[in-house]
Amino acid sequence: MKLLKEVIVEKGKVRGEDVLKVDSFLNHQLDINLLNEMGKEFKNRFKDENITKILTIEASGIAIAAIAAQYFNVPVVFAKKVESKNVDNDNAYESKVYSFTKDKTYSIRVCKDYLNPTDNILVLDDFLANAQAALGLKDVVDQSGANLAGIGIVIEKGFQDGGKLLRESGIKVESLAIVKSMSTDGIKFA
Ligand code: 5GP
Repeated sequence: MKLLKEVIVEKGKVRGEDVLKVDSFLNHQLDINLLNEMGKEFKNRFKDENITKILTIEASGIAIAAIAAQYFNVPVVFAKKVESKNVDNDNAYESKVYSFTKDKTYSIRVCKDYLNPTDNILVLDDFLANAQAALGLKDVVDQSGANLAGIGIVIEKGFQDGGKLLRESGIKVESLAIVKSMSTDGIKFA
């Protein structure tokens, strides 16, 4: 997506060898006009899939999921990362996710009431690196008996293995921008 790539080049900040900071438009401050364009693009890419629900993971996925959901006209469910008295653990699907940026493993939970075997789920997230978050969400969808229709990603880091892993397992993955390489000298797209 041309507009997104332009914004990444203008405002993205490369940290170390493999972390891209996009706090000024996606992960802290939110550029709503850009999010709207991305929401339309996700709808366009998954228009034939008869999506009934969007699933994401707190916190960074919620904004893009909520905006995209307006174009699909479906509810958003977000997996919770923290143990909370508001999530009844006996009535939740749970999976483990290793966080690439935080270097730790955490549990995600989704209340069983919000995923049904008849659902056709679109998973959306901000980044795809090693696909740990995506696989955790897929595990939750599988436990519920729903169908995983596809995965939509705002920024895929193509030099990490997640995209290959998911596509090779037959999942439809659509990324709005795929970063081929990045350094403090610049960002190149696939
Ligand atoms: P994965 O689970 O695919 O290894 O990593 C994806 C998750 O880690 C995303 O949900 C995102 O929050 C975080 N993440 C991975 N790489 C980056 C990055 O370069 N920048 C930012 N801001 N988040 C990242």
